[in-house]
Amino acid sequence: MPHISTAGIHREIARELAMACIYKFADIRGPGNGVGNGSCCASIKILAHSTMGTPDYRFGQSQAHLLDSDAVQAGGLFNPDHHAERQAHNAGNLAGGYHPYMFVELAPCAGANGCAAWCAATIPAVTVWWLYPNTATMVIAHAAGINAQFTALNLALP
Ligand SMILES: [Zn+2]
Repeated sequence: MPHISTAGIHREIARELAMACIYKFADIRGPGNGVGNGSCCASIKILAHSTMGTPDYRFGQSQAHLLDSDAVQAGGLFNPDHHAERQAHNAGNLAGGYHPYMFVELAPCAGANGCAAWCAATIPAVTVWWLYPNTATMVIAHAAGINAQFTALNLALP
């Protein structure tokens, strides 16, 4: 589960996934869309060739706590099933498989029921790259717009 700066030979894959994620959510982030500045976002590239008009990527985003309808069932806590990694994995038709590479803005959460363990158990040989060191840094970058996010990416992946 490396930070994006350790991408090594896969650095271009990491960059592509991160840029796809930035562009995708820049288009829809905002009040009423369920994707705010505090939403952690993720992307996966599909391995199989897609049909025309079908995106080559799958995306996921965490929901704001107050929008998470399962928060009560999860003991009042943010349901980890609604974290960006799992949402991206579960998004749409993954027939044909996908590269076991994922980008997520924040490090996968720890613990027995956390996303790091979930990713390792669910996606064989998965590599997860993450960009921001903490939520506050991510929120600032989102609020500052797409160029701030590209700056963060370029600083982490020169
Ligand atoms: Zn998580």
